[in-house]
Order: sequence, then C-alpha cells, then structure tokens
Amino acid sequence: MSIRRNPTRSVRIGSIHVGAEHPIAVQSMTATQTQNIDATVAQVNALHAAGADVVRIAVDSDKDAHALADIRRQTKANLSVDLQENYRLAELVAPHVDKLRYNPGHLYHHEKTRPWQDKVAYLAGVAKEHDCAIRVGVNCGSVDPAMKAKYGGDEIAPILQSGLEHCERLESLGFTRFVVSLKDSDPATVVEINQRFAQRRPEIPLHLGVTEAGLPPEGIIKTRIAFEQLIGRGIGDTIRVSLTVPNPRKPEEIAVGREIIEDIQAGRLRSVVALDPNSLNIISCPSCSRVENEAFVELAQDVKRMTEYAKNHAITIAVMGCRVNGPGETDDADLGLWCGPNRVNLKRGQESLGAFTYDTILDRLRIELDQLIQQRS
Ligand code: SF4
Repeated sequence: MSIRRNPTRSVRIGSIHVGAEHPIAVQSMTATQTQNIDATVAQVNALHAAGADVVRIAVDSDKDAHALADIRRQTKANLSVDLQENYRLAELVAPHVDKLRYNPGHLYHHEKTRPWQDKVAYLAGVAKEHDCAIRVGVNCGSVDPAMKAKYGGDEIAPILQSGLEHCERLESLGFTRFVVSLKDSDPATVVEINQRFAQRRPEIPLHLGVTEAGLPPEGIIKTRIAFEQLIGRGIGDTIRVSLTVPNPRKPEEIAVGREIIEDIQAGRLRSVVALDPNSLNIISCPSCSRVENEAFVELAQDVKRMTEYAKNHAITIAVMGCRVNGPGETDDADLGLWCGPNRVNLKRGQESLGAFTYDTILDRLRIELDQLIQQRS
C-alpha cells in the first residue's frame, strides 16, 4: 500500500534527510549518564547498529558537553543533543552534533529577563554556524507557562500554539532547517495536535512520538495507535518510540519503530484495539541521562505487577525517572511517582505525600491506590 506523504520540506540531519520523499527516519535516545563516556558510546553504537538514523543525547552541564566531544570521536551515528533547560550549552555542543533539540517550555528557566525570541535567535545562529538542524520539541509535561496561562485549561492549544510561534520565529530569522515535535502521553491527544499542526503548516516536517508511552507491551500499543492514525494520513517524517526498558534493551525502540512503519505501509493496521478508557493506565518515561538510580525501570515494572488487581479502574499512575522533570510530568496523573537517588517521591493529584525508600514505596502506593478505588466507588 502506498501512503501519500505530506509534501514537507527536506531537512538534513548529518548523513540523512527527513521530510519530503525521504523514508521515515527512526530515532532513539541514550539513557546512560552522558559523562560515562564508555557506557554512552556503547549505547549510541548499539542503537546505530540496530538501525537508528539519529541518536539523541541529553546534556545538563558543561561536563556533559565536554563528554560529548569524546563521544563524537567514537561513533559514526548522526547525533542530536537535548539541550534541556540550559540552552546556552548549545555553543559548546553544536560543533559535535548534527541537530539541536530545544524545548520551548524550558527556555524561560535561565536568563529570565531575556525574551524567548532572542534565545531562539541565538540557537538559530549557533545551529547555522555549526551546520546543525534544529528540533522544536514541545512536550505536554513542560509547556511554556506563559502559553498555559494564555489558554487556561485547554490541553491542546498551548502545545500547538507554542510549536507554531517557534516555527514563525525561526522562519523570521531565515532559518528553515528544522523539524517540530508535539508530544503527549495520550495517543489521542498526539493524533489531534499533530493533525491540527499539519493542517496549519503542512510543509514543516514532523517528528512523532507518544511521550512516556511506558512499559512494553502497553507502550508499544499506545505508540502504534497514534502512529497508525498519523502516518496513515501522510503525517510524520521521523519517529521515536519511547519505551521504559533497561539499558541493554534500548535498541528495541528502533526495532519496534521500524516494525510499526512497515506494518502501516503494508496496510497491517491494528488500531481497532482502542485503549479502554475504563482501565488502569500506567505511563512511564523512557529514562535518560537524568536517571539517578537505575532501579527506576525495575520500579516501573513492579508498579505494573503490583497494580494488576486494579486493572479495571480508570486511574492513571505516572512513574518518572528523575527529580527534574518528574514533578511536572506527573501533574495530570491520579498518582505520581518520581525517582531520586535513594527515595521515590509520591503525590496524589497535586498533593505531595512525601518521599519513600525504594523498599517501602510500593506498600505506600498500594494504600493510596486502595483509597482512591474506594472513594470512586
Ligand atoms: S522524566 Fe526525567 S529521566 Fe525520564 S525521560 Fe524525562 S528527563 Fe529523562
């Protein structure tokens, strides 16, 4: 079956092009500590060997940025860097990578009085100077607070408008070598936002992903549902499947991504298995260099096992790997957990319930879950 793709621009990222008539590129991200150069190089190369077209690495500090120079020398993979909150690291890392990813919702953290438009001009300048593409990566868990305030309780408008205004800003600077991602943990929202964006800006290549899709197989099902709806309509030029799996299994993200694309292109669609809105929903992040305790993935697996008894209740539990993004990324969940080096933080809705050891968190979570079930029934 041939799917007519949206006629997007072609954007070069290192040795590949995304958009236009180019095959849909498959990406992944490292989950090792970036300063652990050997482990990160091993993971980058494992992803590359598995067929990753681009591998993303997060940098949080000058030390991470310097590690990236060493990593670059030891791999042929096309590299993308995730700038997280510290956008000024761009000038340190751009010489070593092929793409800069920035999140519009993170630009306000540093140099608070500098307008975001100036910060984008700086990023575009650095990208141009060092032959890098850019990804404008908008994420549901870290939307620009100004956009959230402007659009009240609307879930979709702040994400969509944030993406649109950054495209306009980059273009006003004469910079068009960029792709956009608009991610959410709910596949239906991912479909809605990306469709609306593609209607408004059909020429801009889209990077698709369901953020915090979680553990396989549910994480794969959620991703497949969104991708089938979008790619089947010609939307999407590059993808990332975000799975909560231990480090040695990270290449599965590439294999799963390729399988989903092949199935869609062959007409083997499975979206009829719509997610049951009356069932337990566990979302968990794919982990990255910010994870401070490798027990995170095991914890996510334990949460899934322990909560099996509640599978017929419409409750969302979010399990996140770090203290930086964990608090925000769990905001919409009924029960949220995020991991520190020795303790796991727990909250119920917006209310913090404290931090618990890895040995005791499951018991406390069970108490909270039982109470929630009782209240709702
Ligand atoms: S929640 Fe934290 S550990 Fe998980 S992917 Fe996001 S930044 Fe990385």
